[in-house]
Amino acid sequence: MCVDHDKLSDNYDVIIIGSGLGGLTTANRLAYCGHRVLLLEFHHQLGGLATWFKRRGHIFDISLHGFPYGMVKTCKKYWNREIMQSIVQLKNIVFDNPQFSLRTTFTREDFTSILRNYFKIPQTTLDRFFTTVAGMNFYDDQSMTTRELFDQFFPGRTDVHRLLMEPITYANGSTLDDPAITYGIVFSNFMNKGVYTFEGGTDKLIRMMTDELTKSGVTICTNAKVDRIIVEDKKVRGIVTRGKTISARAVVSNSGITNTIYDLVGREGFSDDFLEKADAIRVNNSSCQVYFGIKKDSVIKDAGDLLFTSASPRFDSEELLDLHTRSKTFSIYYPKTRPGHDRHTIVASMNSRFDDWSLMDEATYKEQKKRLIDRTLIDLERYFPGVREKIDWMEAATPKTFKRYTLHTLGTSFGTKFEGLDVSRSLYKEIAGLFHVGSVGIIMSGWLGAINYGVIVANDADGFLRSATAQ
Ligand SMILES: Cc1cc2nc3c(=O)[nH]c(=O)nc-3n(C[C@H](O)[C@H](O)[C@H](O)COP(=O)(O)OP(=O)(O)OC[C@H]3O[C@@H](n4cnc5c(N)ncnc54)[C@H](O)[C@@H]3O)c2cc1C
Repeated sequence: MCVDHDKLSDNYDVIIIGSGLGGLTTANRLAYCGHRVLLLEFHHQLGGLATWFKRRGHIFDISLHGFPYGMVKTCKKYWNREIMQSIVQLKNIVFDNPQFSLRTTFTREDFTSILRNYFKIPQTTLDRFFTTVAGMNFYDDQSMTTRELFDQFFPGRTDVHRLLMEPITYANGSTLDDPAITYGIVFSNFMNKGVYTFEGGTDKLIRMMTDELTKSGVTICTNAKVDRIIVEDKKVRGIVTRGKTISARAVVSNSGITNTIYDLVGREGFSDDFLEKADAIRVNNSSCQVYFGIKKDSVIKDAGDLLFTSASPRFDSEELLDLHTRSKTFSIYYPKTRPGHDRHTIVASMNSRFDDWSLMDEATYKEQKKRLIDRTLIDLERYFPGVREKIDWMEAATPKTFKRYTLHTLGTSFGTKFEGLDVSRSLYKEIAGLFHVGSVGIIMSGWLGAINYGVIVANDADGFLRSATAQ
């Protein structure tokens, strides 16, 4: 499946740097269009943040907590029917915080009923709100913030703001101060038909995608960090990996947009105007996670699939990012989630700032990781009394872990804020044949966003490769 470094050719039509869901999709589409594609991945495993690891018989998923129904159509159209068929709904989403405790299927119908009956919001207000967010599109006015949107429809209702915002903050790191359209687009995606997962786990998905890439004829090489993108006369010429130069008419970088500009090309490759825009890019926050493996023959009750929990009195984006946040989501993976694998695992996720962890000395870092696990265990016991006795593996990941495995600037989990999209989309105007795919601008992040962006960028690169400029 993966080719040895010394067996790589000196020349391909197009090189993809990175195998996140965006990179994998672009690679597959371009090979499908008949181009000779080389996919280079820094890690030994494909998938980028769509990843997993194994410990003592447990398999832990990192970013498989939920995605919108749109994945069904996208996977069927751009990957294959088998991948589509493993997508199943998570029907039991739980919210538990000092302002409210409730369960929902996270569909528009159920959410409307909760907002009307539990939160006593008039139906006319709800209709107007849902119509407004559903009608938002990328080219709309970007000056209104999500906070202003909420204040317009639900003034003073911090409980409603929390219900509407908390899952989206976990889903893409956005805050009440981000443009309302980023909220509207993501919220309507989720609200459409609920939250979905991939039955069989991330490892199964990536295995199926790898098979598809092999069938399409993509050359795959892992443990292959790209150190430099070669640019001459404002045209991309190839890359350097492990000391070897490989030429190509086009390069698609799935490395972070900031990594691509500053580390792989270098500032000298760009105009001042472009750099001004690039320098203004804000990367999104990173994450912490705690992984719990339940002993082989132990069982835990069904307490829901996804638990949005918080002990904080009010929703507050800053509190969610704090080192000692009292807000987290628990993803519970029952054996049914991985048919044939008879284990329960639990993953707690928290938003987090890179600098809070990166500036610690080694001893403090270790101690803080231990405290993070202890705090999370206490929270977990509220939902699964006595669970401590059933756990045989506990481990934590921090923003440093995410940076180490993906190289992303500040270990970002969801790429960049809104302004990153424009920079990503205009890269090829600066350097002919150079494209970027990957989490930018909130709406292109997440599993669905990354795959969809992969398709868009494959179309751009295919058009370029067929054009005179590329010859
Ligand atoms: C903790 C966490 C939870 C998440 N939960 C969800 C969720 O529930 N639902 C959801 O939809 N999304 C979730 N996401 C987000 C989602 O996983 C990502 O948005 C998506 O997978 C990103 O895909 P990408 O194409 O941008 O590439 P990435 O996954 O960022 O991958 C980029 C790849 O490029 C490689 N690379 C970088 N530089 C180089 C180089 N120089 N040479 C070679 N290779 C290089 C990296 O090693 C990596 O493999 C979560 C993310 C995190 C961190």
